[in-house]
Amino acid sequence: MVRRTVRMLLVMLWGMLACSAPMYAQGVPAAAAAVAPAPGDLSQVEGEAVNWLQGLIRINTTNPPGNEMAAAKYLAGILDREGIHSEFYESTPGRGFLVARLASSALPDPSRALLLMGHLDVVGVERAKWSTEPFGAAILNGYMYGRGTIDDKGMTIANLAVLVALKRSGAHLNRDIIFLAEGDEEAGGTTGMRFAVEKHWDKVAAGYALNEGGRVAVKDGKVQYVGVQAGEKVMVNVDVIATGKSGHGSTPRKDNAVAHLAAAIAKIAAYEAPVQYNSLTRGYFEGIAPTEDEETGKWLRALESSDRADHAARWVSGASPVWNAMLRDTIAPTMLQAGVRQNVVPSEARGVLNIRLLPGNMLEPLLGKLRELVNDPQIRFEVEPGATEPAPSSSVTGELYNTIARVAVQKYPGTTVVPYMSTGATDSALLRMRSVQAYGLLPFPLTEEDAARMHAEDERIPLDSFHKGIEFLYSVVNDFAVAK
Ligand SMILES: [Zn+2]
Repeated sequence: MVRRTVRMLLVMLWGMLACSAPMYAQGVPAAAAAVAPAPGDLSQVEGEAVNWLQGLIRINTTNPPGNEMAAAKYLAGILDREGIHSEFYESTPGRGFLVARLASSALPDPSRALLLMGHLDVVGVERAKWSTEPFGAAILNGYMYGRGTIDDKGMTIANLAVLVALKRSGAHLNRDIIFLAEGDEEAGGTTGMRFAVEKHWDKVAAGYALNEGGRVAVKDGKVQYVGVQAGEKVMVNVDVIATGKSGHGSTPRKDNAVAHLAAAIAKIAAYEAPVQYNSLTRGYFEGIAPTEDEETGKWLRALESSDRADHAARWVSGASPVWNAMLRDTIAPTMLQAGVRQNVVPSEARGVLNIRLLPGNMLEPLLGKLRELVNDPQIRFEVEPGATEPAPSSSVTGELYNTIARVAVQKYPGTTVVPYMSTGATDSALLRMRSVQAYGLLPFPLTEEDAARMHAEDERIPLDSFHKGIEFLYSVVNDFAVAK
């Protein structure tokens, strides 16, 4: 019942918006200029989108090997039936990206174009831990279960639904809208986004982009805040290598490589980098402070106070691993490798540190600190290739950000819109390196509990949130790109 009321309110809101549309758009009488589809049409597309998402989940695109081409073909079929031409560009056999475009009625101008993007690959599953088939897309109690429902096939289908709804409405666009379904996001993007921007920039060139990475956070049954991702930390992996003399396990020596590696890793894991702020994290902590409980709000507000800043940072870091990671560079030891037999002392032992730097921070000073901490001539550090891009952040006062913020409070009255710096890496960095104002906007309202299922078992999306997310995204795109 409650849901139906919300839906009715949305429909009324649609009606009000339609009434306030100008009589004439680009000299075309209002009757002929279909500015937005009637609400009935959008809900029809939403219904179809549930089926499209089920179809996409059922195509297993676990990366590796990815096999994104099968998923791309499926989407191309849907686009085809809507009369939208799409093209697949293959990077390696079976992999690449799918791109389609709704052209504006204005002169082509890539710097104005809006890119709607998502990735088709998913991370693997530990089948035994799932309560449903991970690639079955079963609908149970209002949720669709499956790997990729949130990350990132849900977003890809929401983008598709927006494209289809706009195409069906015959809307006149004031900028091109590019639909991009790419691959290999979960394993570095070499055969997906990197291939797209480096080899086929003309196909995806845009001034603006909407991608995964943001959040519509639900707490106590309502939207607590809308986090618009405008920047991200930089990831780099560093090997820690211990060397010593190999020998028989029965006659151990002090220079044992395994023991030296273990001691080094223990010191590194105990290290906490200093707290630093940037405009995104400042805006985020200030913005969410009033939406949190009293105690949390008090410490969030005290983060940069003159007298309690240190204590506040400790409290906030302790309250959430995500907040901790937003406040500083982090180092997570993630892999260990040593030895070939139980009774053989190996000459080498290796560990991997997964390091996440705040935007603008360099690796070398941190490594210098780690060398000093470890202080062991048997240990050396080697930087692995494949670091993510140290991209500048997108503007939080620009045109698209403002549109998102305006639409968010219309859609979720009483909510707060905050800038968000993601601790993880997304494909948006590659775009920001090319002057694109890219934003992460995972538009589906999700509780912390559901959001935490990303990459974990029983990933699922509430169908109600799926619908709301499509409506939110549609309104943003409609506001930003449809000629009024
Ligand atoms: Zn993702």
